Amino acid sequence: MPEIFINGVAVEAREGATVLETALEHGFYIPYFCWHKNLSVAGNCRLCMVEVEAESGGWMDIACNMPATKGLRVLTDSDKVKARRKTMLELVLKNHPVDCGVCDKAGECMLQDYHYTYNGAPSVSTVPKVRATKFHELSKRILLDNERCVLCSRCVRFTREISKSHALGIVDRGDHSLVRCDELRSLDDDPYSDNVVDICPVGALLSRSFLYKSRVWYLDATPSVCPGCSRGCNVDLWHRKREWKLNALDPRHNACIERVTPRDNAEVNGPWICNTGRDLAKFLERPRALVPMQKGREADLTSAIAAARALIDAAKHPVALVSSWGSNEELAAFKAALGTRFRTIVKPDRLAEPGERIEDDILIRADKNPNTRAAVELFGDATVALDEGTDLVLVWGDGFDFARLPRHAKTILLCAFVAPENGHADVFFPVSVQSERAGHYTNFEGKVSAFSPCFPRPPKVVDAETLFGRLGTPVAARSGAAA
Ligand code: SF4
Ligand code: SF4
Repeated sequence: MPEIFINGVAVEAREGATVLETALEHGFYIPYFCWHKNLSVAGNCRLCMVEVEAESGGWMDIACNMPATKGLRVLTDSDKVKARRKTMLELVLKNHPVDCGVCDKAGECMLQDYHYTYNGAPSVSTVPKVRATKFHELSKRILLDNERCVLCSRCVRFTREISKSHALGIVDRGDHSLVRCDELRSLDDDPYSDNVVDICPVGALLSRSFLYKSRVWYLDATPSVCPGCSRGCNVDLWHRKREWKLNALDPRHNACIERVTPRDNAEVNGPWICNTGRDLAKFLERPRALVPMQKGREADLTSAIAAARALIDAAKHPVALVSSWGSNEELAAFKAALGTRFRTIVKPDRLAEPGERIEDDILIRADKNPNTRAAVELFGDATVALDEGTDLVLVWGDGFDFARLPRHAKTILLCAFVAPENGHADVFFPVSVQSERAGHYTNFEGKVSAFSPCFPRPPKVVDAETLFGRLGTPVAARSGAAA
């Protein structure tokens, strides 16, 4: 490993690493816009300038494109470097609008942070700013504010190198340069398009679903896992902080997912997710089932559990359809409590929707469920026939075609959402959704990822893990306490 000197300190560089990577890995921060660890080097923002020390007098160069070669000496904070950074920021800000008060990126904008850290001076320009398009529609999901764009080209490189849609490019020159869609392609056809909003260092690329919804400093991020397919991408669910709870203004914002962003995990999804993962609120915030029922009539939980247990005790040929959206903990609880009582079928809770990409070699998997692998490891993948001999069917989760129910079979149904079938079940339990409980999913490669709760469980809703324990408890040991 080559040894280089950063600000006079000897550090070991990884083989093949650049000066910028080496500096960041050893705690020397160098600012940048265009560099991104998962994209090619563009070297166009010139902000990562460092001073190379040499006997001949030295020179200035960009750290993102400079190999860390043995004996190299660089300064990241010299007077020359500071002056160059200030000049570069003045140039970038020359035509940049002072939009921070209304810009979605405020609070997590690299330009805002760098301006106050490395420049901070008022503009010295005496000529009017060049105006450009605001709210240009790049796709149905993304708007572009060209005045805010610093032309780092990260978005363009993303569509060329990662999503391979080649949908974006830059047209015209100098201060008339604009990011635009390729005339023959559409960003709407790129199922990974929203990643460009995350990687845009400023507020030029705007997600329509998050536009003006919240200031980021009112939000907290809870670690979670996208259940949209068996990749199990690691994500953050952004929701309103408790201390910034809304009372008079729309209080629904206190308990909803405001946005979903990737949580970088090199072993699962890197720093990317697909647009299905961004739309997780669509899955988790469907109208909720909130009360237990017996044959369509509201019941208290204790009597619903007693009724379900009586059905289980009486059944001769019970079959359980196990949810592939159940967590590892819930699946294990079912296996421990009821696994020997039921013949089990692992059920896909979700199939691809019309127009949804089925599979690719980036992230998206054909199995649209997060935990099929763990479920199959516990219960196998054999098909069990639901024939006329089946006298009890326990259906856990979405996606079951109730037309397949044997005519005389009793049913116990566990579902989180309102559905017509809920009222037809002999016993119905409303169960919690992923954002209300902790757990783990095992993805198709066997990688286990954790998710945490961010909202309280509604009062009469139960956790399936606890419920299975109570359904499996022998009659004599049942206490009657609520699950
Ligand atoms: S829109 Fe954003 S990511 Fe794209 S070039 Fe402009 S600043 Fe960079
Ligand atoms: S690739 Fe699969 S797991 Fe990842 S964000 Fe998309 S749907 Fe979710």
